[in-house]
Order: sequence, then structure tokens, then C-alpha cells
Amino acid sequence: MKRKLENEFSWSVSRAQLFASCPRAYYYNYYGSWGGWEVDAPERTRQLYMLKNIKPLAMWAGSIVHDTIKEALEAFARGEGFPQLTQLQELALTKMRQGWTEAVRQEWLRYPKRTNILELYYGNRKNLPREQTDSIKERVLTCMDAFAHSATLAEIMQTPYLQWKPVDTLDTFFVDDTKIWCAIDFAYVGPDSILHIIDWKTGSEHRATLRQQLACYALYAMEKWHHPLEKIAMHGVFLFDGGRRSDYPVAPDLLISVKDQILSSIQAMKGKLTDVETNAAEEDNFPCTPSEFNCRQCPFREACPYFEEV
Ligand code: SF4
Repeated sequence: MKRKLENEFSWSVSRAQLFASCPRAYYYNYYGSWGGWEVDAPERTRQLYMLKNIKPLAMWAGSIVHDTIKEALEAFARGEGFPQLTQLQELALTKMRQGWTEAVRQEWLRYPKRTNILELYYGNRKNLPREQTDSIKERVLTCMDAFAHSATLAEIMQTPYLQWKPVDTLDTFFVDDTKIWCAIDFAYVGPDSILHIIDWKTGSEHRATLRQQLACYALYAMEKWHHPLEKIAMHGVFLFDGGRRSDYPVAPDLLISVKDQILSSIQAMKGKLTDVETNAAEEDNFPCTPSEFNCRQCPFREACPYFEEV
């Protein structure tokens, strides 16, 4: 008999952000939807699992840019040559067309992991205003253009791929006894033995959030790659801002403070559990925190009691 997956407690930057913005959305995402992929799952669990996989349009576009970059860099590492800008853009557009078709055909009804776009799901499920689709397409093409012409890519191309780290691969490390998930977009060791950690961004710059995210990556690099802190450089590359690179200095006091933030976030999350040992949670312990921004972006609207009342 197939063993059921266990819902083990872990931490990530995105998990912490969701918990801080709305505990109820956090509950739906990490507890209520758990097991919703099983054929015999209760209806509510299946519904939450399907909703959990919905992405807002801008986030979907961002994931297409990230996937296209990952594929291009991996192809280059395999010795297949680096795609021209037009090929990169065509690759991204093909992914957009495929995703869009999955979404309007509602393939997620049978396969919840297929593309499901928030604005469509909570709209007429057939189409969106032309300006909206044109603008998201333009955003993806602009980001690919900025990536292809960026100084960061030029540096990467000059670095032998043996100096590259695995591209955008989900992995874990531990802070105290808690498993921390992270996926570094790209990292390489330069000729000066500096480990450059890069995060591609398709939105605007939020320094506090990115500082925390990059500091987690530095903790990972020190534990997994045994790279000393003084030889780590962290950068955000803003693809919707011409590929502008923003450097984030990393110092011991930053890492201490980020570790403290992680531990207090873990403590707050665990404080809501009904049984920490088994990672058991009950919906009522996770209050709804509605706000125009949170709810507009939230895939769980149709399941949320607060939203029903609005
Ligand atoms: S709809 Fe709003 S209040 Fe409800 S879970 Fe989502 S963010 Fe929270």
C-alpha cells in the first residue's frame, strides 16, 4: 500500500510572508489543502488544494520568466549554446500560450497542478480585458530582453559552468531543528573566489523582504556549500527595470538578526498549532486578516468565510 505523505512542519520565506499577511490563508495553504490530491480526499480539502495552485497573473508571468531563464542556463551548461533573445522570447511566449490554454480549458478541474490564473478564475473564466493580457505579455518580453542584455548574464557567460551551482533547485537546510526550504535562482563562484548569489526579480524592489530572502540563501550557502560569509555577495536583478542589479551586503549581524526572525516566525506559527508534535492545526485558530491587498491577491476567496460576507 502507498504510504501517505506526512505534513511535516517546515519554514520558508514565502510561508512566513503568508502567515504574516493572513493566518487563515496560511492555514488553507499549508494545512486545509493537505492531501487534496488524494482521490478519496474530502470535498473541502480537494477544493482548497485546487485553490492553492491558483496564481495571480503577475506571479504566473514571473514564474514563466524564471522557468525560461532556468531552461536557457541549463541548456548552455549542457553545451547546447545560449539561445538568442528572439528564441528566449518565443520560448516564454510558448509557455504563456500553453498555460493560458490550460487555464481557459479549466484543465485544473482534473489536474489541479495545471495553470489556473486568479483573475480568470474569479472572472468569467474565458477571457480578460485585452489591455491586461497585452500588458502581461509585454512584461514577460521586456523581462527576457533585460535578462539577455544584462551585465549579470554577461558575467555568468564568462564563468566556466563548473563554477556554477545548481540552477534554481529546491533544497533544504536546518535552523535549529526546523527544515528551511529555499531555491536559489542562480549562484556562481567568480575568479576572485566570491560566491555570487542572484535573485531574478520581475516585480519592484522591496529591500527588507529581499534582504531576508538573500540572507536565508547565504545561510544555505554556508551550510551546504561550506562557503565562508566574507566570500559571499548577494544581488537582486530587476528584470522589469532594465536588468538593474542591486547589491545586498551580507554581514554577521544581518545573519544573526535573520536567524532570530526565522526562529520567532517559527515560534509564532507553532503557537497556533493544536499539537506541535504532530503538526496538527484547526482552522478556527487562524484568524482571517482581510485587507484590500491581501484579499485581492488571495486564491482562497471562495472558501473564506470573511470574503463571503463582504
Ligand atoms: S480572502 Fe482575505 S481574509 Fe480570506 S483568507 Fe484570503 S486574504 Fe485572508
